[in-house]
Amino acid sequence: MGKQEDFVLRALEERDVRFVRLWFTDVLGFLKSVAVAPAELEGAFAEGIGFDGSAIEGFARVYESDMLAKPDPSTFQILPWRGEGPSTARMFCDIVMPDGSPSYADPRFVLKRTLATAAEQGFTFYTHPEIEFYLFRDTPVQGVDPVPVDRSGYFDHTAQSKGADFRREAITMLESMGISVEFSHHEGGPGQQEIDLRYADALSTADNIMTFRTVIREVALSQGIWATFMPKPFTTHPGSGMHTHVSLFEGDQNAFYEAGAEYQLSRTGRQFIAGVLAHSQEISVVTNQWVNSYKRMMFGGEAPSYVCWGHNNRSAMVRVPMYKPNKGQSTRIEIRTIDAACNPYLAYAVVLAAGMDGIKQGLELPREAEDDVWTLTERERTSLGIEPLPKNLNEAIVIAERSELLAETLGEHVFDFFLRNKRAEWDDYRGQVSAFERDMMLPVL
Ligand code: GLU
Ligand code: MG
Ligand code: MG
Repeated sequence: MGKQEDFVLRALEERDVRFVRLWFTDVLGFLKSVAVAPAELEGAFAEGIGFDGSAIEGFARVYESDMLAKPDPSTFQILPWRGEGPSTARMFCDIVMPDGSPSYADPRFVLKRTLATAAEQGFTFYTHPEIEFYLFRDTPVQGVDPVPVDRSGYFDHTAQSKGADFRREAITMLESMGISVEFSHHEGGPGQQEIDLRYADALSTADNIMTFRTVIREVALSQGIWATFMPKPFTTHPGSGMHTHVSLFEGDQNAFYEAGAEYQLSRTGRQFIAGVLAHSQEISVVTNQWVNSYKRMMFGGEAPSYVCWGHNNRSAMVRVPMYKPNKGQSTRIEIRTIDAACNPYLAYAVVLAAGMDGIKQGLELPREAEDDVWTLTERERTSLGIEPLPKNLNEAIVIAERSELLAETLGEHVFDFFLRNKRAEWDDYRGQVSAFERDMMLPVL
């Protein structure tokens, strides 16, 4: 038993922990949890806790359904939201097959494998997500329009605001779980909030995002309100993105930084952006995985609709932030496509793979988009070589089905399951007769 495992076993006793929740994530990005008694933990560290993988979205075919969840001791945390009395703790798990090999269905493994490939070339991948979400007054009821908790807008500071109270409590809870928050503010839509997590390696960030979503929901419920990461809950208000600032480090040096270069962006940084742009259409199904995701990206509202980059250009899909003239080690790029309802492990894996491919192929960065690309005409965009992102889930699936990069990064199993599942979602959706159609047609036809 290693040092970290020993630490966990001691902490269980000292903190009087009665339940340990073992957490992992299904292919669509939903958190799964199994609670074990502390006495089971030694065995769990050694061999894992068995479960039926065929009952989890995307995990296994029925004939290979036995899987094991093996807790990662470095992720041990006491859960702060269950009030007084004996404590509950959690650890994220790696999923393994009965022979001890990693499960190819485990999104955490997909990310680990992609990070390992980058590490072979000397790179560590760092990420900093800006997570947006809406707060509603009540638990959702089918067919009833949700009511936001406030009518404030971007950066508004309002006395006794529900949003500010919410953010204070949520951030306190996140910090008590070792998740550092860098910024938080009211976002553009009524009831819409943003909380930004501090830079961390991509695996920790993905774990933190899963914890974040859970904490946000728990805090909302405890305050009698409802939190949602749905990408676009309203037609007329902005959607919720999860813009992510990313950079590659070589040892303790930021590989995107080059003093004196344009925007202080190194060749590696430029090639990385070029790779992300080149593959953005085929990875869209992962960064924006729901029917609803595509409704966020069609009205401007600071969400991208076109494949382009720019510095300080919020209509661009990739932005090179220019807050500080001497960015040095904090040089990074912002990917603005990703939404808050993605599977963070898979989304970061495909973004990294796309960027690394740009480096591998030495891709040239296309010309920067200097204008607000939404205000250009179709013809102007075409003449600038600016292509659209997929306009709906169906377009994204069709492009993804032909993507070698996606198949390779996700692995055959996740790739097949994911696309089958998304195809089914699209088919369900396209068969629905909506209020929009009735309202448009019944009065006149
Ligand atoms: N809510 C916008 C989006 O969906 C982003 C707003 C911002 O720039 O932070 O991407
Ligand atoms: Mg924002
Ligand atoms: Mg942003």
